[in-house]
Amino acid sequence: SVSLSGVTKHFGGAPVLDDVSLDIREGEFVALLGPSGCGKTTLLRLIAGLERPSGGIIAIGGKAMAGQGTFIEPEDRNLGMVFQAYALWPHMSVKDNVGFGLSVRKVSRPDRARRIQAALDIVGLSGHADRRPHELSGGQRQRVALARCLALEPGLILLDEPLANLDANLRASMQEEFRRVHKKTGTTFVFVTHDQAEAMALADRIAVMDKGRIEQIATPRELYERPLTSMVAGFVGRGA
Ligand code: ATP
Repeated sequence: SVSLSGVTKHFGGAPVLDDVSLDIREGEFVALLGPSGCGKTTLLRLIAGLERPSGGIIAIGGKAMAGQGTFIEPEDRNLGMVFQAYALWPHMSVKDNVGFGLSVRKVSRPDRARRIQAALDIVGLSGHADRRPHELSGGQRQRVALARCLALEPGLILLDEPLANLDANLRASMQEEFRRVHKKTGTTFVFVTHDQAEAMALADRIAVMDKGRIEQIATPRELYERPLTSMVAGFVGRGA
């Protein structure tokens, strides 16, 4: 679970996030949806521990991560991230890329091998374990990045527009992939997108953001049928 309570963030000037409270249940798939600049990525980076909140409290799995004098480093938060620029090591094989975080964390060699194999199986790339990144398509590289994240077996996966650079076919199959992985592992997913169709297709609940605030958080159906504000109505495609 992820819990934000009264979280604000500013980078000197006006707040980028303004009193954001949000509760995400264990195993839930939540999309952060909103126009460019509304603060989605900043919110994800705060959950990840890549930024510190200016105010408020962030907890993961019921444990305080940031706020009130506490700050837990990203590597100690039991989470994995897949960002848009899913950098892989070009000189390493697929399986070494996937296992990299495990070596850093000093996971034993047999356990490492098992987790790499399991992660590659999930994303359907076990046949490509010995290839280098340049021998893969963009979508396959994307899946390696997802496998690298899965191999950490985190309780929480954060995705920042991981499908933005893919063509329509690949995007559809990766959406399928995410749904499958989510179902199979029971991992909590938080997903940033500015694409409402994508949010509707993937998420259990969508947090619609505007100007640093959460306008409404609800299931796709609720948002569509009962938008609370004209911004939400406009953004989820029903018109105000
Ligand atoms: P996009 O969809 O375009 O990525 P977003 O909703 O993810 O937008 P953020 O990236 O969170 O929005 O940015 C929100 C605001 O915060 C923007 O006005 C941005 O310029 C500002 N911002 C983000 N990071 C920093 C930073 N490190 N320093 C100063 N301003 C920042």
